[in-house]
This record gives sequence, structure tokens and C-alpha cells, in this order.
Amino acid sequence: MHKSDTCLNTPFMPTKALLRAIVPMSQDNFLFQFRIEEPGPLSSCAPGQFIQLWIPGAGEAPISVCSGSVDGSLELCVRKAGRVTSALFNLVEGDWVGLRGPYGSGFPVKDYVGKDLVLIAGGLGVAPIRSLWQYILDRREQFGKLVLIYGMRHSEMLLFRQEFKLLLRRKDMHVFIAAEEVIGPDLPSVSWQLGRVTDMIKLAEIDECFLAAVCGPPVMYKYVVTELQNKGLKNDNIWLSLERHMKCAVGKCGHCFVGGTFTCREGPVFRMDTLRFLPEVIECS
Ligand SMILES: Cc1cc2nc3c(=O)[nH]c(=O)nc-3n(C[C@H](O)[C@H](O)[C@H](O)COP(=O)(O)OP(=O)(O)OC[C@H]3O[C@@H](n4cnc5c(N)ncnc54)[C@H](O)[C@@H]3O)c2cc1C
Repeated sequence: MHKSDTCLNTPFMPTKALLRAIVPMSQDNFLFQFRIEEPGPLSSCAPGQFIQLWIPGAGEAPISVCSGSVDGSLELCVRKAGRVTSALFNLVEGDWVGLRGPYGSGFPVKDYVGKDLVLIAGGLGVAPIRSLWQYILDRREQFGKLVLIYGMRHSEMLLFRQEFKLLLRRKDMHVFIAAEEVIGPDLPSVSWQLGRVTDMIKLAEIDECFLAAVCGPPVMYKYVVTELQNKGLKNDNIWLSLERHMKCAVGKCGHCFVGGTFTCREGPVFRMDTLRFLPEVIECS
């Protein structure tokens, strides 16, 4: 084997991706659309998986894939937070980045077939949840009832605004969009509810037969899980995507090691009854 072959097989080798389009969605959150330059595992990302985004000179950061990748395209919804994401915001269409992955467990979509589903997103947690609803809607007939709940602090933080306008018109799913504060010019076109995702869970027609997929800020989980339990859902029917601090994404560096678990490898999606480190992540009854 040539030395160069060994290098190409390393899990740390990124694939070149061309930045095709940048779509501003809110003040600090943009959608970045990429074309993958080489064939490989990135063309089959499962909902809930993530990639490592590499910007030359800035470093790497884990980012959820927020689209199904079709024909070598892939979308990332990114908040400008620090070194890597700021460098991404400085790029222009036609620039390239490195991507490696996909990594992580993702949502167990095969187990969801034939079941009633409630998808719950808080804030930027809508990114991995979007990959899940796109997967389900592409195969709508395979699934039962579908409820989508999306909450944010302020209505101006709504991401995927145009897509939500279309989702709200669909007859084969029930969409709730909630904000704690609501203002904005195009409110009549979006069915806003004042409140939190937990208020929407109370409103929605969900029963113990539903399976739940949840992603949001850490503070959200405890309250969401309690509301789902109040609706009759058992812990083995609730999946949580937990975005711990990660560096290598392949279970080597130990940054995301908690309670005996590498969350990059075994997560970020966990079925609630299997969470060995539950008390460290969320408090719940
Ligand atoms: C599985 C997974 C999926 C994710 N998916 C997404 C996604 O879809 N979209 C997305 O936008 N993010 C996502 N994230 C979060 C993203 O990886 C982090 O925000 C990442 O840290 C961004 O990298 P960065 O280099 O831009 O920020 P960093 O430089 O690491 O900064 C991150 C935060 O730390 C603060 N910080 C940085 N340096 C300092 C300092 N010296 N002192 C104090 N505070 C500091 C920054 O203000 C910022 O708030 C995901 C994370 C995980 C684990």
C-alpha cells in the first residue's frame, strides 16, 4: 500500500465541498448550500447526523446536516458563534471548504415507519429536525400522523420561513410555531402561537402511541420530556439529540466523553431510556 493511500483512509481526511449559495435566514443564522466535489459517504447522510466543517486557517466545528443530501448537494444551517463559523460567514459563493463525515447515530428512521410522530425543535435545534421532516415527507405514506412543533424566543428568529409557509398549508401534518415574543411584518402569513414548545405539546393531539424526536437548547429538554410523559409517552419512545461539545467526532479526543459515553459516536441522538448519563444532561422525573 502506498503511503498516500493510508492518508486518504484516515477518518480525519475532509472532502472538498463547493459553496454554491448563501441564504440569510435571520440576523446570525444563514443557510449554506454546498456541492460535494467527490463521491463518498457524505452523499448518504441520515437525518440527525452531523459533519465536521473545516475552514482552512480557522479549524473545524461539528454542524448538523439539515437536508437530505441529494445528487451531491448538502445544506448546513449555521449560527455565527466563534472562530470557525465566523470564518464561514466570511466566505463567498464559489469558495470551498472541507467536510468530513457523516458522523453520529442519527434518528432511527426505520423504527419510525408506520408510527405516529411528533417532532419538536427549539431554536437552532430545527436544523437536524428539518432533515428528519424532509426524510419523512419524501416517504409520507410510510408514516402515521405527523406533528411538528417549533419554538423560539422571538418570532424574528424563525428559520426556514418560506418552507414553514408551505408546511403550514399541508393537510397531512400539523404544524405549530410558537414564540415567546411575536412581532414582524409578515405575521398573518404564518400561524404564530404565543408561548413555548411545551404549550404546543399541551395543545397538540398527541397520545401514548406517538414517538417523539426532540432537539433544542439544553434547558428545553427537562420541560419537553415532562410534557411528553404527561401525554403518556414512555421513555423508550422519546429520542433526544444532545449536542455536547465535540472536537474530533470519532471518539478519540474525549471532549464529548460523559458518563462513560462518547456522545459523538454513540449520539448525538439517544433514546431516552438508554441515556446512562441522563442526570448530567437533563433533570427529569
Ligand atoms: C452534534 C452537533 C451539531 C451541531 N449542529 C450545529 C448546527 O447545525 N448549526 C450551528 O450553527 N451549530 C451547530 N453546532 C454547534 C457548533 O458546533 C458550535 O457552535 C461550535 O463551537 C462553533 O464553532 P466555532 O469555532 O465557530 O465557535 P467557537 O470558537 O468554538 O465558539 C463557540 C462559543 O464559545 C464562545 N467562545 C469562543 N471563544 C471563547 C473564549 N475565548 N472565551 C469565552 N467564550 C468563547 C463563543 O462566543 C461561542 O459562543 C453543533 C454542535 C454539535 C456538537
